[in-house]
Order: sequence, then C-alpha cells, then structure tokens
Amino acid sequence: MLTYLGVAGWPVAHSRSPAIQNAALAAAGLSGWRYLKLPLPPERFAEVVRALPAAGFRGINVTIPHKEAALALADEATATAAAVGAANTLTFEPSGTIHADNTDVRGLLEALPVDPAGITALVLGAGGAARAAVHALVGAGAADVMVWNRTRERAERLVAEVGGRVVSAPERASLVVNCTSVGLRETDPTFKSLPIDADTFGVGSYVADMVYKPGGTELLAAAKRRGATVTTGLEILVAQGAASFERWTGQTASHEAMLATVEDRAQHR
Ligand code: NAP
Repeated sequence: MLTYLGVAGWPVAHSRSPAIQNAALAAAGLSGWRYLKLPLPPERFAEVVRALPAAGFRGINVTIPHKEAALALADEATATAAAVGAANTLTFEPSGTIHADNTDVRGLLEALPVDPAGITALVLGAGGAARAAVHALVGAGAADVMVWNRTRERAERLVAEVGGRVVSAPERASLVVNCTSVGLRETDPTFKSLPIDADTFGVGSYVADMVYKPGGTELLAAAKRRGATVTTGLEILVAQGAASFERWTGQTASHEAMLATVEDRAQHR
C-alpha cells in the first residue's frame, strides 16, 4: 500500500511542493510514497483533513488560506507553530493524533547565509510569511527587527503578538526579508514601491525574498548587482519542505535534488 503526503491549499495548482517533495522521495528511495496536490475550499478543509489518515496519508503541507485553520484543528502543536499562530505542516501520528508544526521558521533560518544573532533586520509585510520571519529573527537573537507593512494596523498586530517593532520609514538594515507578495506577478508594482533603497545594498548586506519566481525576482537581481548576498524564495521553499519531509519520513531530504527539480522547471516555463 502506498503512503500519501500532500499540499492543501485553495487554489493550489501553482504549488511547487509536489515537484520538490517527490524529488526528495525519489532521492531517498521511498518508492512507496506519493505527494499530491489537495485543492480544498476553506469550508471543506477540516472535514477532509480529518479523513486523510484513514485514506493512507502520513502528513500534509498547508498553504494559503488554511495555515490558521490547520493549527486550530491539530491536537498538538510545536511551540513555534503556537507562537507564529499558523501551521504549514500537519503530521498524522499512528496514535490518531494530528500534530502541527511551522517549518517556515526553520526553513528561513537554514536558508539565510548569515546568522541573524546581533544584526539589524527589516521585514517587509505582515502576513503569514512575515509572522514566521519575525518569529525566526527575534528567536535567533537579531538586535533589532523592524516590521513595515502597507497596512500599518496589521504590522501592529503582528508585533504585539510575535515581536519586533513597527516602522513607517525603515532605517537601513543589514538584512532585508521581503515577505510581501510584491514581485510575484508581472502586473504587480515593482519592488520600487517598497520602502527600501536598492542603492543602500552592497557587500556585507543580505537580502532574502520569500517570493519564488522562475528566474528570480527583480529585487534580488538589483541586490546582487550591488554586491549583496541573496537568498531566493526557492531556497527558502526547499528548506521548509525538507524540514516537513524529515518530520514525516524520519529521513534526511536531499536539498540538491529538491532544488534541481524546481530550477529545472523554472528554466522550461
Ligand atoms: P499574505 O498573508 O497574503 O500577505 C501578503 C503580504 O503582502 C501582506 O503584508 C500585504 O500587505 C503585502 N502586499 C501585497 N501586495 C502588496 C503591494 N502591492 N504593496 C505592498 N505590500 C503588498 O501572504 P503570505 O503567506 O505572507 O505570503 C507572502 C509571499 O511570500 C507570497 O508571495 C508567498 O508565495 C510567499 N511565501 C513564500 C514561502 C517560501 O517558502 N518561499 C513561504 C510562505 C510564503 P497588506 O497587509 O497591506 O495587504
């Protein structure tokens, strides 16, 4: 009998998780496992998820708009998922317990090329990705975590619940993490609509973009041109996916195999 994993979202057609997770399963020799897309409208989410263990599922990733609902339906959660207020990974334990984790936090910390301890950081955005990033950076001992969001009230709520400080006009930071969706679609405003000055990027500064886009984002291209060290959304996606994979299978995930699949796909789009 096959063991199933999957990603639940609405919509979920665009998700790259099946490609990266199936690459990791193949690299680990887990031929009896499959990772599927699970398009679930919000009103069916809890009911369908509770039925998955009986259908052979070991666990699922959860994406927009289900991350809060996933935490709410779990029987137990890691301290990280509880602190962020959202889960991206559910594991169906043999005991019947549903366990929730948020591997976006570990994924970001692993993918960053710098130890955030003692540095100044600027997080752009106040959605689910920003909540995970702020929790990660505060927990890793960043000296100052500035949070800017287009809708200031949302940033205020994030800071009250997770940490950092709200800014309207960010000061220069050694690390910038874009957690807005700006840069995702060609029709979007460019990163120039964000309160950052690309001219301040240079050798010794770090820029991470949560947005994953074939060929990379304009923000990262501008930062790279000026000598900054960058982290792509695909690297972060692979790192959080590897942490979920290891929770479900007990085996190490091949980051190389996972990244190669998405990069290969990106080149053929
Ligand atoms: P979300 O909860 O919907 O939040 C979206 C954020 O983007 C909000 O802060 C929103 O500001 C901001 N925003 C949207 N359009 C904007 C604009 N034109 N100008 C300025 N700000 C704008 O989404 P999320 O889950 O946090 O995800 C954010 C991005 O990260 C998405 O592109 C997602 O695909 C990506 N992501 C990547 C990974 C990874 O592993 N690489 C993981 C999670 C998410 P308002 O509050 O003002 O609306």
